Amino acid sequence: MAWRSHGTTNAGLVNALFRNNLIEHERVKEAMLKVDRAHYAPTSPYEDSPQLIGHAATISAPHMHASACEKLLPYLHPGARVLDIGSGSGYLTAVFANLVGPTGRVIGVEHIQPLVSLSEENMRKSDEGRRMLESGQVQFIKADGRKGWADGAPYDAIHVGAAAAEHHRELTEQLKAPGRLFVPVAEGWMQNIWVVDRKEDGSVERTKLFGVQYVPLTDAPAD
Ligand code: SAH
Repeated sequence: MAWRSHGTTNAGLVNALFRNNLIEHERVKEAMLKVDRAHYAPTSPYEDSPQLIGHAATISAPHMHASACEKLLPYLHPGARVLDIGSGSGYLTAVFANLVGPTGRVIGVEHIQPLVSLSEENMRKSDEGRRMLESGQVQFIKADGRKGWADGAPYDAIHVGAAAAEHHRELTEQLKAPGRLFVPVAEGWMQNIWVVDRKEDGSVERTKLFGVQYVPLTDAPAD
């Protein structure tokens, strides 16, 4: 059902994702209804497809955003701390902020400064987005996400929006116990989503979920 959930409005898109079981939980639906994709995707915001946002980056397809929220949902409780690596347009960062509420904190890490600025501009298009930035509920940082963001650790949930060349140790180390990492990992010609759980006793369990196509996590381009 992926790719078949187009809408002509934000609510139309989110309701189609729900009908097609790409969104399963009401909490995810409510959080996605609160963020208008038109503030983040310059063209065709209500199509279930990725869109170019400049600097060789894309805003991921809505069904992938939904999938990331669904898989991380048990860790996105009110007050949770979240790291969104490769935050790009800022859309998913804003959805995570709705899921963890005003007592939570979401940090978006992006290595291209114009995209950091773009994500802030996008969020400022709504009163709620402005409030989230001004209160510090959401913060965007320019950094190499392959190292996570140690200053804000530990995190209940870490999302990676670009394909990693390996299982970066720092990301698992910055999880709370319990905590969960959602990361696409390149494996030969394939990329697969992995969910990495750090359990209450500190042990780590890795589960491979399904094949995907993301832009790679790379070195930052020269300024
Ligand atoms: N979740 C974003 C996805 C954007 S595409 C969205 O849906 O809008 C992936 C992003 O990862 C790009 O913006 C790219 O610039 C960023 N990226 C790639 N390598 C990175 C790195 N090493 N550190 C931080 N961000 C990186």
